[in-house]
Amino acid sequence: MQISLENIKSLREVFTKIPELLKILDGYDNLLTTLIESIDNCIVDSPPPSITEGGIIKGSYNSEVKELRELSGDSKSWIKEFEESEKRSTNINSLKIGFNKVFGYYIEVTNAQKDKVPERYIRKQTLVNGERYITEELKQKESVILTAQERLDELEYKLFVEFRESLIPYINQLQELGNSIAKLDILSGFAYLAQEKDYVKPSIYEMGNMKGLIKITGGRHPIVESINNEEFISNDTYLDFEQSSMAILTGPNMSGKSTYIRQVATIVLLAQIGCFVPAKSMELSLVDRIFTRVGASDDLSRGRSTFMVEMDEAANIVNNATKYSLIVLDEVGRGTSTYDGVSIAWALAEFLVNDLKSRTLFATHYHELLKLSEKIPNRVKNYNVLVEEDLEEGTVIFLRKIVEGGTDRSYGIYVAKMAGLPEKLIKRANEILESFEQEQMFSKENKVRESGILESKEEENIKSTYQYPLFMAKDSEIERDIQNLDLDNLTPMEALTKISEWKKKV
Ligand code: ADP
Ligand code: MG
Repeated sequence: MQISLENIKSLREVFTKIPELLKILDGYDNLLTTLIESIDNCIVDSPPPSITEGGIIKGSYNSEVKELRELSGDSKSWIKEFEESEKRSTNINSLKIGFNKVFGYYIEVTNAQKDKVPERYIRKQTLVNGERYITEELKQKESVILTAQERLDELEYKLFVEFRESLIPYINQLQELGNSIAKLDILSGFAYLAQEKDYVKPSIYEMGNMKGLIKITGGRHPIVESINNEEFISNDTYLDFEQSSMAILTGPNMSGKSTYIRQVATIVLLAQIGCFVPAKSMELSLVDRIFTRVGASDDLSRGRSTFMVEMDEAANIVNNATKYSLIVLDEVGRGTSTYDGVSIAWALAEFLVNDLKSRTLFATHYHELLKLSEKIPNRVKNYNVLVEEDLEEGTVIFLRKIVEGGTDRSYGIYVAKMAGLPEKLIKRANEILESFEQEQMFSKENKVRESGILESKEEENIKSTYQYPLFMAKDSEIERDIQNLDLDNLTPMEALTKISEWKKKV
């Protein structure tokens, strides 16, 4: 405490050049001097962690403490001398004086020298390789030592408590001072970051002004940029109520989606707590809260599955966010089947755009969600993270640049390969993927998509964009064919050719 207080005094020197910050320390000089002096008077320089076992109060502060400490100190040296003289008089060179809480002080002699023990020794305890004894003299001294120590501990504790109480009148001022130091700490931290890390001052508008604009150019993730091995690639952000309230971000695994959406939330947070921001420029219409669903941890120990945690967090967002909130969603709907997941993700996105009307960044694997921007083109925008694919090498280079538009590939197998899954397994995964991609036209997923279920109910143009699934188109074509057949003039050969044609179509 005393050291902290002395350090506070020296802060004056650190901040001499910044009078605005120095002002924070004004008016505390007397308090500091008084406290430092009184602590220095009473408490030893490095007191022990426990306040009941003595060693806290300076001898110069209280004469009784001094006497008792000398007494118990003297007695300890008496014990040392006693050990030496007993060794000499008994000729037992292995003789030792020890102490434990049950027996107090004792004399220990090994079995080998047991017969040299004089009659005045009283046996107390037998050990495997020795015996423990006491003598009258030792017991008497013990009681002096223990009483002195005990009295000292009690006295020191009492004095300490009194001293502590004497500081009560300063508590308010001390807490205020603590607060001011914390403020100083934060502000100088902000200043340091702004200068060292090239942060800029954001332009801030009242909540809801400027159509709820959140515009960042050249934004960076403050932490990833500091610890990353590769150069950090900056990215822009544009959100507002009218043109772009939801940004749906797709892109390969490991491309930087999570980093990007968290970076936006962090930059907004920094701006709102009064810090400059890691960006080239920023305009911000204040948000009322920032909501995130980023899946940092499971909660299996409390009996909630990954998916349950995810849904809990989504429910919290939907029930508490407002139009003025910023929402950051990283992969919603992953812990369940694809159809469940994509349905929930889609409905959630729709709700956020149409009902809550909040500003949202949504990173997702579900490329189906890209269609939302066709349904609500004025407020949902698609973005993806650029990658460069080297077909010959079979490698992917992540460019980390966010651009407008969707993407339809995840490169999950490529990432699995990078992580070191065996070649054989990777090859098989690629085969399976290929066959899925070929089958996809007829898959359940495609039927869901094509059947128009994903069309937003609010949109009037559902019918006009409705596409007949492949199967149905073929069916009706064949139906028409059959109906138009002139059976009376059809040779068996022609009939067979027709059937073969239909078979090909199906
Ligand atoms: P995703 O969510 O798309 O799977 P992450 O956001 O987790 O990907 O990013 C993976 C890694 O890529 C990060 O841990 C980071 O090291 C690196 N990274 C992400 N964004 C950038 C960036 N803008 N510039 C440089 N490196 C980045
Ligand atoms: Mg991610």
